[in-house]
Amino acid sequence: MTVGVLALQGAFQAHIDKLNELGAEAVEVKRPEHLEGVDALVMPGGESTTMSMLLESSELFDPIAERIDDGMAVFGTCAGLILLATDIEDGRPDQRSFGRLDIAVQRNGYGRQVESFETDIATTVTDESVHAVFIRAPKIVRLGSDVEVLAEARGDAVLVRSGNALGAGFHPELSKSTAIHRLFLDSVYN
Ligand code: GLN
Repeated sequence: MTVGVLALQGAFQAHIDKLNELGAEAVEVKRPEHLEGVDALVMPGGESTTMSMLLESSELFDPIAERIDDGMAVFGTCAGLILLATDIEDGRPDQRSFGRLDIAVQRNGYGRQVESFETDIATTVTDESVHAVFIRAPKIVRLGSDVEVLAEARGDAVLVRSGNALGAGFHPELSKSTAIHRLFLDSVYN
C-alpha cells in the first residue's frame, strides 16, 4: 500500500513523516503520473484557493476526482477539508472543490481574534484525547445527513467522515498523537 500526499503547496511534509512513523509508505503527488502508484490520498493544509489553482494547472484535478469516484480513500485536513467540501463560504468565486463531503465550510471561520488555537479533543474512534491544532481553520457550518461526526470542538464538528472521504478542520499531522492517521490507514487497509 502506498499513500500519496498532495504536494502542490502547504503542509505536506508533516503528513509524510506521520505516515512513515506509522510504517506506511508515503509519496508526494505533484503530477498526474504520481497518482497512478497510490492507493489513497491525503490533501494537506495550506491555502485552498492556491491549491485549487495548482490542481488545475498541474492537471491533477480531474484524475483525482476520477480516482475518488472509483473508491480511493481520501483524507483532507484544513485546506484539504475545504477541497473535499460540497459548499465553500467566503471562498474565491473560481475556487473548485471535489465535493465529496456533503458539508458547508466557512473559510477562516473562527474569526480574526482566534484564527489559530489549540485544544484537546475527544473522538468517537479512540479513547485517547487528541491535541488538535487549528490554523486559520475552516469551520463546518452545515452537515449533510450522511456525514458522520467523529469529533467536535467548541460545539462544532471538526472530524467528519462520509463514504471514502475523511476530513479534519485541524492539523492532526502536527499532533504527537497518531490516532487520526491510524484511523485513515485502517480505512485504506480494510
Ligand atoms: N485558511 C486556509 C484556506 O482557506 C486554510 C488554512 C490551513 O489549511 N491551515 O485555505
